[in-house]
Amino acid sequence: MPGTPAAAELAGQLRHAFTAGELTAYYQPQYDMQTLDVVALEALCRWQHPRRGLLLPDRFIAIAEHYGLIVEVGHFMLEESGERMAAWHRRGLHIGMSINVSPTELVPDFATTVLQRLRELELPEHAVTVEITESPAISYTRDELYTLETLIEGGVGVSIDDFGIGNTSLELVRLLPITEVKIDKSLMHDSQRAVDDLVHECLSIARGRGAIVVAEGIETQEHFERAQHWECDRGQGYYFSPPLPLGEVEELLLTLT
Ligand code: C2E
Ligand code: CA
Ligand code: CA
Repeated sequence: MPGTPAAAELAGQLRHAFTAGELTAYYQPQYDMQTLDVVALEALCRWQHPRRGLLLPDRFIAIAEHYGLIVEVGHFMLEESGERMAAWHRRGLHIGMSINVSPTELVPDFATTVLQRLRELELPEHAVTVEITESPAISYTRDELYTLETLIEGGVGVSIDDFGIGNTSLELVRLLPITEVKIDKSLMHDSQRAVDDLVHECLSIARGRGAIVVAEGIETQEHFERAQHWECDRGQGYYFSPPLPLGEVEELLLTLT
């Protein structure tokens, strides 16, 4: 819980984790629902804590947000995944990459930094998608909208992550500058009829806006068939593959050539 002494202590340790080389990225493949090819990877942050072992983002992203460290996390993930991706592209492995970005990071400088870094790394802008996470909620400030528009104009994809968690999700799909919507896993795991209706409505608005739709949390054959029924473009989940450490994702990529 941010604000407690334990959280303050973890935040203090996180401050040092960047330079100590304790942060790392895992990569989860995204599959084309038609061809079942791996088309992109989602970079997910991990913290190899010296005493507590491998920490998942749920343990430290809210803390990073609260103690003003989220921009540094974002910067680390852009560098880490960008450099890996550039090395793969040089070897002829043309794979897309999605990175998670908190609305807090959406200031105009962010778009400039991302676009400039991609140019320096000689990466095609269209290969990168920025997933805007649900928390804290986006508030449609001028900065946020300008940043998203600048990214899209520069060729970078913009995805609404966690569609369906909040009750303003449809509004986000309707109003934000986007190229992709990601249906949250909680919807995949909820078999109520109302969920199908909500997803169909989302699909129809997204299609109208030329955005692609990704289903996450596909764990079983049944989930896979549900994503097919929804007519999602891409799928992601344990049914295909969990998030993988660098060595394992490289092995996977090599099987694709
Ligand atoms: P998310 O962006 O919705 O990412 C999907 C989460 O679901 C990941 O958890 C992933 O490991 C997990 N997952 C993947 N497939 C399945 C499945 O089939 N079933 C289930 N039950 N779960 C699945 P993870 O890696 O623990 O990340 C949690 C959240 O932390 C992410 O949710 C994202 O919001 C945030 N996050 C992760 N990395 C970053 C980062 O670099 N920056 C920021 N701002 N947030 C991050
Ligand atoms: Ca995500
Ligand atoms: Ca999600």
